Amino acid sequence: MGEPLQASRGTRDIWGAEILLWQRVEQQAREILGRANYQEIRTPIFEATELFSRGIGEGTDIVSKEMYTFTDRGNRSLTLRPEGTAGVVRSFIEHKRFQQGVQRCWYLGPMFRYERPQAGRYRQFHQLGVEVFGSDDPRADVEVIALALELLQSLQVTALTLELNSVGDLDDRCRYRAALVDYLTPYAQELDPDSQVRLHKNPLRILDSKDPKTQAILQDAPQLPDYLSPAAQAHFEQVQAGLAALGFTYVLNPRLVRGLDYYTRTAFEITTTALGAQAAVVGGGRYDGLVETLGGPATPAVGWALGLERLVTLLQKQGDATIPGPEVYVAAFGEGTAILALQVAQKLRHLGLRVEMDVSHSPVGKQLKRADKLGSKACVIIGETEAATGQILVKWLATGVQDVVAFPAGFAQPEWWREKLGTGPA
Ligand code: ATP
Ligand code: MG
Repeated sequence: MGEPLQASRGTRDIWGAEILLWQRVEQQAREILGRANYQEIRTPIFEATELFSRGIGEGTDIVSKEMYTFTDRGNRSLTLRPEGTAGVVRSFIEHKRFQQGVQRCWYLGPMFRYERPQAGRYRQFHQLGVEVFGSDDPRADVEVIALALELLQSLQVTALTLELNSVGDLDDRCRYRAALVDYLTPYAQELDPDSQVRLHKNPLRILDSKDPKTQAILQDAPQLPDYLSPAAQAHFEQVQAGLAALGFTYVLNPRLVRGLDYYTRTAFEITTTALGAQAAVVGGGRYDGLVETLGGPATPAVGWALGLERLVTLLQKQGDATIPGPEVYVAAFGEGTAILALQVAQKLRHLGLRVEMDVSHSPVGKQLKRADKLGSKACVIIGETEAATGQILVKWLATGVQDVVAFPAGFAQPEWWREKLGTGPA
């Protein structure tokens, strides 16, 4: 035998009580995004590598060092998607959906990045994302940001900060980039090694550096908000006014830039202090240039992506969910009881109850013990006598009281079962 098999580095299994939190998040997302009339989209997990190198940008960390790229048997270069937006845009171009007015959609699924695994940072992780295509109205920015906040509030996640900035339009960013490079060049030797590389490749990303010395140098650097054109400035002010009108608070962070090249104007993150270094739960903004970059018609766009592992970790800190047991356990033993057990379980499930049927061949005492251990409220006990007469024993585990219920008539009365189980109408 070789080494025991393990999940690959940076990947993990999601199961047990944790899966309930994932389901709760997904249910809330469906509900809240549905009410704003966003449509779900599911795109492939792998795409042509070129989609990401063009759409995300060669100078980004993702494209330069984090992609899972491979050649398939037909000699195509494919990449496991590192994020969701590029695939969604590819799909909209392919199905000519940009010609059909404003489009709103959301997605949820696994993403893949070759990163150094640590708490809150994985190689396979999951994002929930939204996109609005075809509107440059600042209300679209406000709407998507508000939806992220509403979702988090509905899950009772507290202590979050909305950080807001504008990276301006392409021209603004070019002027700012030049000013930033001018300012930083004399300090080049003192910057951290990553920032030295970025000084020529992607200088805006230096603003993101966590290195204290680099941060100190940045203290007096030129600031993005001073380089906004009047149009970008007006847009930014309207986004802020809209958020305030909806009762959301935010903090302006002039150093906030997104890692992706296609962002314009609004950039934002929703951060927490509860997760250590991996502080961002949601990241997003406007990317008016992306659709055209990928070969579609010029189409303004705004959206965000939320890291589900980080959100679920926050929910776990508020207390774990408990896995509900079956409401009714069906125990059977002896000759001629097997088929009846199947039928009883089916009837009860048709009533809408959560039912587990024993298939262990254990003695009846052991079957009852399992029913109790799983937290069942009732155990249906089918022995040879019950099979012969159709009069079936139901034991209520909390009190030990037993009822005799006729099969099938007594197993088709939802009110009786609901009342006895104390769960009220379904
Ligand atoms: P970070 O600065 O933490 O690397 P990012 O800017 O790379 O984040 P985005 O590409 O904007 O992140 O992705 C949006 C969200 O997805 C992040 O805010 C985070 O919650 C989550 N996320 C990103 N990378 C990972 C990862 N490797 N593991 C788990 N979650 C991640
Ligand atoms: Mg990252």
